[in-house]
Amino acid sequence: MKNIAILCSGGDVSGMNPAIKHFVEYSLKRGLTPYFVYDGYEGLIDNNITKASYKDVSGIINRGGTQIGSARSKRFMQPEFRKIAKENLDALNIHMLVVLGGDGSFRGLDIFYKEHGVQFCGVPSTIDNDINGTHYCLGVDTALNIIKTSIDAIRDTASSFKRAFVIETMGRDCGYLALISAITSGAELCLIPEIAYDLQSYEENFKEQIKNGRRYFIAIVSEGIKQDSQEIADWFEENIGIESRVSVLGHIQRGGNPTIYDRLMAYKFVTYAINGLLEGKDESVICYSKSGFEYKSIEEVTAHKYKLDLELVNFL
Ligand code: ADP
Repeated sequence: MKNIAILCSGGDVSGMNPAIKHFVEYSLKRGLTPYFVYDGYEGLIDNNITKASYKDVSGIINRGGTQIGSARSKRFMQPEFRKIAKENLDALNIHMLVVLGGDGSFRGLDIFYKEHGVQFCGVPSTIDNDINGTHYCLGVDTALNIIKTSIDAIRDTASSFKRAFVIETMGRDCGYLALISAITSGAELCLIPEIAYDLQSYEENFKEQIKNGRRYFIAIVSEGIKQDSQEIADWFEENIGIESRVSVLGHIQRGGNPTIYDRLMAYKFVTYAINGLLEGKDESVICYSKSGFEYKSIEEVTAHKYKLDLELVNFL
């Protein structure tokens, strides 16, 4: 029997648990022995690696986060610790890895592969949806649904009190979460790092809307824009003349029970990852686009920055 291990690295996302569940079940189905590596690359270095069975994954499909922990590891950046990681894997006869993580994690894996030849397949997992080469990353749909629920709740209070709410979403330099949330929540204003904006250009129109009876504004801003969210709220107060509040959604966007879409995508990503490894693909990332699933090289995924589909802006 061949051994295969799974680990989560970098920011956790909702959808990792369904992926872990399917990893165990599908590995066993394909005649492989599944292992868990706890706490990302830290677990590889500390030999925190255990054999997994069906009972370890029962009752986890509906839970956010990851049962096996995730971490960032400074030590994995250093060759001497990667050597220890390789020795730990060798001792357990593990030569295949499925890694749920972001492009940073894949970069680390690429180096690990080039030094030590450990075969791997990466599963793009980040709520930011900012990995080049894939249109979808695990966890995005759940994060969008959490944001949607939050905006719906904020709208109730905003309309009661005649207020503008500036709602800040995560995404680092990528405005995907903010853009999709703004479109699907009918927000009045959306500010994202990819698009230059001039607040002044909205003033006349917003004031006119108040005159015509508008009681509230919802502004969705991405954390990566140049201005602070409070500055946007101040602009509403000073230039539009409406009381305003800031709501930073923060880490609630990473939690919550995985949506149906993320559960299904977790199953699909993991199936393709294991199939790819069994077919002898040495170092790849399983990507998803309009034409379906596709194995891509680390170079392809990490060489360029993710580009937002600006066609979406037309829906604003
Ligand atoms: P993400 O995978 O979400 O993009 P990070 O960029 O923080 O998250 O990367 C996760 C981990 O991947 C890091 O803590 C580190 O252990 C490993 N890693 C990233 N880049 C490298 C690298 N150039 N060399 C070795 N390990 C790396």
